[in-house]
Amino acid sequence: MKDSTFYALVTLGTLGVAGLGYAMYFDYKRRNDPRFRRQLHQPGREKKKAKQQLEEQERLSQSQISVSIENALQKALDKPLPKDPSQKEQMFMEQVAEGERYAALGEAGFEDAAVCFYRALKVYPDPLELIMIYQKTIPQSVLSVIMGMLSQDVKRRQENYYNAFPPEEMHVKIKELSKAAAMGETMTYKTMVANKDFAVGDTIYTELPETTLLVPGLTGSAHCDYCLRVIADGSEAKQCDTCHQVAFCSETCKTTAEEEYHRFLCPGSAAEPIAAAQQLTGTWADKHVLSPMLIAKFFGHMIHVEKKKQEAGEEPEYTVWERLEHLKFLELTGTDDDAKNQELVCDLIGSKITGLENFMNRERYLMLKGKMLYNAIGVRADGSSCPVSLSGEYTRAASTEGLVGAGLYLVSSYLTHSCEPNAVPTFPDGSSRLALQATRPIKVGDEITMTYIAVGDRPVAARQQELMEKYRLTCSCPLCVAKDE
Ligand SMILES: [Zn+2]
Ligand SMILES: [Zn+2]
Ligand SMILES: [Zn+2]
Repeated sequence: MKDSTFYALVTLGTLGVAGLGYAMYFDYKRRNDPRFRRQLHQPGREKKKAKQQLEEQERLSQSQISVSIENALQKALDKPLPKDPSQKEQMFMEQVAEGERYAALGEAGFEDAAVCFYRALKVYPDPLELIMIYQKTIPQSVLSVIMGMLSQDVKRRQENYYNAFPPEEMHVKIKELSKAAAMGETMTYKTMVANKDFAVGDTIYTELPETTLLVPGLTGSAHCDYCLRVIADGSEAKQCDTCHQVAFCSETCKTTAEEEYHRFLCPGSAAEPIAAAQQLTGTWADKHVLSPMLIAKFFGHMIHVEKKKQEAGEEPEYTVWERLEHLKFLELTGTDDDAKNQELVCDLIGSKITGLENFMNRERYLMLKGKMLYNAIGVRADGSSCPVSLSGEYTRAASTEGLVGAGLYLVSSYLTHSCEPNAVPTFPDGSSRLALQATRPIKVGDEITMTYIAVGDRPVAARQQELMEKYRLTCSCPLCVAKDE
């Protein structure tokens, strides 16, 4: 987890725009320092080694430093950072130059040096790369302070996260509750609680997904590939002009899908097929394995969102990646298929995004898969029936009846399972827009639950087994506990 929170900060708003570059600074450095070029082009293994050294350093650092990390961080964050890329570039160069001056003063200048270098780090498009350069070019003690600031910064962000999420208008909060676990111990877990009272039938909130996936067999022309809506008879489906394999309900859905993911994932035309995209489509269409496609689509979406924020000059409170980081996930041991799928996803998206192959390593790919499997919610539409069963992969759904696809919802992911839930995700537009509806009276502070699996009149043991296999959950809802005794 450490690795991923580390990344959450250092990739802040930068993923996908690494090409921006601060060429001038590097040109300057290259001209003045022949070592610099070699440091820039470290092979992957060295990168890994560098990262391990860093983590080691971070552990050792705390005790040896005489400057206050808290102070330094406060100073570094005091002045607002510029939003415009050219101003960022200018600030970067100024801060690095100033940092070097302070560092040259010896220990007396270390705190100010760290402040400058940290500010430079905050505006640099590939912070991990910069840290690796720092490792070789600035004094160890200064780097230790910088790493301390980084981890403090991450900690603060983590602590503040649930203050502003979910947005107030959704009337729910994320709380840490505890419940009895095995051997008389208690365990804590994050869950959703109501911020006001709801009556049966009330819509608690509505939520749009981060990413969705239509079940195979519905892709051709019956459903919109973006919002999953049934494309009404008589209305003209707007197909992808290249592959003619996906359809959209509107020009908006078509354009958005194109910008977010289809530009990476389009399998190409009959005359010019794109092998990797066809293989990826195949893992879903033929093998019914949903995670690779869902991961690829999520990635496309995330890059698109962050890029737009950056273009608009917004300093995002939290990135989509950080939001994903906060979700629970299944820890998986990878298979050969996972390795192949990871390669496919990297091939497709990495061809357009610099630096993805470093980002999408095995560990991170498996984490994404674990996030998708744990959190994806089945999207249903009236009058449809799910034409496939997902082999080995699944979404939260009370039944496969009417299932048209799956969606990843950042808020609804916090709904915990109960076999006797007090809420149910509904899809009133027949699209992937989720409306959470109360099925029992809910009072302020009550935990809100949904069912992840089919309940019906299945025996407790069967439900518990399925929950354990799919979600590693032991359900302690009234329905399970009452029958247990
Ligand atoms: Zn649509
Ligand atoms: Zn296409
Ligand atoms: Zn239960």
